[in-house]
Amino acid sequence: HAALLGAVGDAVVAAGPDGRVVFWNDGAERTYGRTAGEMLGRDVGEVAGLARLRTPEPWAGDVSAERPGGGTTLTNLSVRPLRDGGDVVAVIGVATDVTAARAAEETARRLSAIVDSSDDAIIGRDLDGIVRSWNAAAERLVGYTAAEAIGQHATFATPPEKHAAIYDIVSRVGRGEVIPTYEQVVLRKDGERRHISLAISAMRDETGRIVGSSAIARDVTEQVLLRRAAEDDRRRLAEAQAIAGLGSFERVVADGTLVWSAELYRIAGLEPCTPLRADALDTLIHPDDQETLHSAQGEAARGRGPVDFACRIVRPDGEARYVSIRVSSVAGEDGKRFVGTVLDVTERRRADAERAAAERRFELGFETAAAGTAIADLDGCLVRVNPALCRLLGRSDDELAGHRLEEFAHSDDRARCGADASGGEVRFLRPDGRRVDALVDVSVVHNECGEPEYLFAQVLDITRRKQAERALAHQALHDALTGLPNRTLLLDRLDHALLQRDRREGTVAVLLVDLDHFKLVNDGLGHAAGDALLVDVAARLGLAVRPGDTVCRLGGDEFVICCENVAGADEALAIAERVNDAFNTPFALERSEVFVTASVGVTLANPGVAAQELLRDADAAMYRAKERGRSRVELFDEVLRQRAAGRLATATALRRALTQGEIVVHYQPVLSVGDDRVVGFEALARWEDPERGLVPPNDFIPVAEETGMIVPLGEHVLREATRTLAAWSTTYAGAAALTVAVNVSARQLADPHLVATVAAALAESGLAPQRLHLEITETVLMEDVDDSARVLAQLADLGVTLEIDDFGTGYSSLSYLKRFPVDTLKIDRGFVAGLGSDPDDTSIVTAIAALGRALGLRLHAEGVETEQQRRAVREIGCAYAQGYFWSPALPAREVLPWLRRRSFGVVPEQRGRRLAVGS
Ligand code: C2E
Ligand code: CA
Ligand code: CA
Repeated sequence: HAALLGAVGDAVVAAGPDGRVVFWNDGAERTYGRTAGEMLGRDVGEVAGLARLRTPEPWAGDVSAERPGGGTTLTNLSVRPLRDGGDVVAVIGVATDVTAARAAEETARRLSAIVDSSDDAIIGRDLDGIVRSWNAAAERLVGYTAAEAIGQHATFATPPEKHAAIYDIVSRVGRGEVIPTYEQVVLRKDGERRHISLAISAMRDETGRIVGSSAIARDVTEQVLLRRAAEDDRRRLAEAQAIAGLGSFERVVADGTLVWSAELYRIAGLEPCTPLRADALDTLIHPDDQETLHSAQGEAARGRGPVDFACRIVRPDGEARYVSIRVSSVAGEDGKRFVGTVLDVTERRRADAERAAAERRFELGFETAAAGTAIADLDGCLVRVNPALCRLLGRSDDELAGHRLEEFAHSDDRARCGADASGGEVRFLRPDGRRVDALVDVSVVHNECGEPEYLFAQVLDITRRKQAERALAHQALHDALTGLPNRTLLLDRLDHALLQRDRREGTVAVLLVDLDHFKLVNDGLGHAAGDALLVDVAARLGLAVRPGDTVCRLGGDEFVICCENVAGADEALAIAERVNDAFNTPFALERSEVFVTASVGVTLANPGVAAQELLRDADAAMYRAKERGRSRVELFDEVLRQRAAGRLATATALRRALTQGEIVVHYQPVLSVGDDRVVGFEALARWEDPERGLVPPNDFIPVAEETGMIVPLGEHVLREATRTLAAWSTTYAGAAALTVAVNVSARQLADPHLVATVAAALAESGLAPQRLHLEITETVLMEDVDDSARVLAQLADLGVTLEIDDFGTGYSSLSYLKRFPVDTLKIDRGFVAGLGSDPDDTSIVTAIAALGRALGLRLHAEGVETEQQRRAVREIGCAYAQGYFWSPALPAREVLPWLRRRSFGVVPEQRGRRLAVGS
């Protein structure tokens, strides 16, 4: 036991019941400075601090002991009796040195008293940021008691968005970083937010190791709010100044201190917060305006309220700005001060100047505008008018002022120029009786609030334009030569008359008047004479008709008379006879008098008939008048109606026939008269009608021409003929040089695609162009010489050969013939018929032949039926002929057999001359 107790660090002493020391260990030796040898057997009370061992009462407490080298040691002594049975055998005392511990406890107690009495919250935290101490001020500040706070993390009672920053600070303090004082928000237990200022420092132990941190927090909520309010005020003031463009300054007179607002720096063109000299404002003002500044300051100093003045400032970069300054002198703690505002008015001055210029421009524009211009109040009463409007209306300012524009307008047009009108075309009446056509535009001018303020009217004189429009309208509806209504107006009047017809007695009659042989006058006496004749005819027709009837010129030498309220055919025919009689006296033309007659077709309107149909019927009647010898009147009747209906049926059937392949081509051989050699064929159309059988061309070609069907039909014949001839040439050598002649009608000649169609037919068949002949009837060519010459030239350019068909039936003049690139004249069948028997026909054909030779043209006789005619044709010098004497037109399939029969049988001597054929 003794050894064990000896090793204990504390002092262990035992005293016998008599108070003598019986045990003294090494710890006691260290604590009391005496050895066991010295102390054993001695009274324990000798040692200060061990007197308690004399009594066997258990006891514990702090006892001071004298240190061996002087001074005292504070020990914590625990005394306990050692009993054996009921008797105390020894008293044991164990003393622990608590000098340092007690001192530390004392310090801590004092510190915590200080801490607790502090006004600042003081919070201790360990390295993990866990709160370890929490003083009374902390409790007041945050509202949580120490018991509630200790053990919480530093983030406790702070807003979540700050937590990351708090963790960061905890770790930085742990690393020994110095954290400057900062502000932070705490969330009090009662929910209130307070601003605190925090000073954080590291806590170290004796060895200098960081063991935690202390935070000293102070409530700065009031300061923060005050500071914020001040900042807000400053910011709002600066913003307000910036928005207003209003800078301010303050100058303490005594010490010359000068303060400018941010906006004044901006106005002055300086960087914000540039240090200012006392005279900075004076230097800023334009030299010429210094005087103004000084007198204003002087006046302000006399204290009669704020003084306003305008001046210029010059920015450091030289730019001058216009400012308006208000300065006032105030008395303050630091004596007299000048305070003032500076407003940059440069932009406003510019805007004012622009507005003034715009106003001047408007004034000038208003006064000098070419258009009449007026300003009126909302009731339309004129307030201002410009000179142009005065001129237009023929009235002075005074005569117009207070009146409304509509008072001067035509009664029908007033609605277009009143106060509620937006304008339109208006006729104004001037005091001199003249009428002015004007275009009026009225607009309502609104003020800034969008309320109507006044009316602005512009009045444009369009009298000239209206006149031109009327003239144009007249031109569009009238014939320029005779001044009579033209076809357009006629149709319009007819439509109108037909509508009226249903409501009135009687009916509408249409007379179509066509001059006979008008072309003779035109060609013989010249166009001027032709025109004069037409004008004269127009005048006579006007006299011949009843009042109310309309005479129109349809074009060329055709006139139409439209008569309303005609009782019946008799009355219509009576009018027509009067018209016919109008031609009984000769027309006096410039150099000569001529008799001209007219053929008149008459038709009466049945219910429901259209204007176009009436014209067509009158035309049909007029044609019959021509057929029956001209200079007469014919009435459109049942026969003509039947004929017309028949044609219509034919046209419909023909359209079908063309698509069904019922139009076939027959070929009539053409021979060289001298040697009876076949040189080619004329292609002639036939209609293989499944019901009527073979229809001859005279029964359908005229209808095809009238309806325009001739164009596709002609193209069909052209392609068929070229393709067929090319095919024969490959299968039969004797056909290699033969030609084919295709008839071209008037409508085809006028078709703009004709040349392209012919070129395509040649290209597709591969036929040499000179082997294709085109026959054009003489009368067709003469209709429009210029156009014909142009188209014929284009066809000749393709290389095709051109022939004039039915020569002798038209009125060709030699000069015209020379203009056409034709090769051959085909003498009309009518003349050939009497050849050799009728002396007239013989002389005509002889004359034609002479003419042809003179023009270098070849002659071709058609309709040769007899040996006699053949001989006559040869004698006259015709190069070619065709006719029933040789062959009628043959179906294609019969042509090659026919040719072969001629070569091998009837005329075998031609066999060896095949190559010369057609040369
Ligand atoms: P055309 O061009 O004068 O054709 C000649 C007409 O005389 C043909 O009548 C022919 O059959 C007939 N003819 C021939 N030799 C004799 C004869 O010795 N004596 C008599 N009396 N007549 C003879 P066709 O085929 O009836 O043709 C009549 C007209 O139809 C043609 O007259 C031509 O103007 C027109 N025509 C025929 N086919 C076409 C065509 O494909 N296109 C155009 N545009 N017109 C065609
Ligand atoms: Ca012909
Ligand atoms: Ca003919």
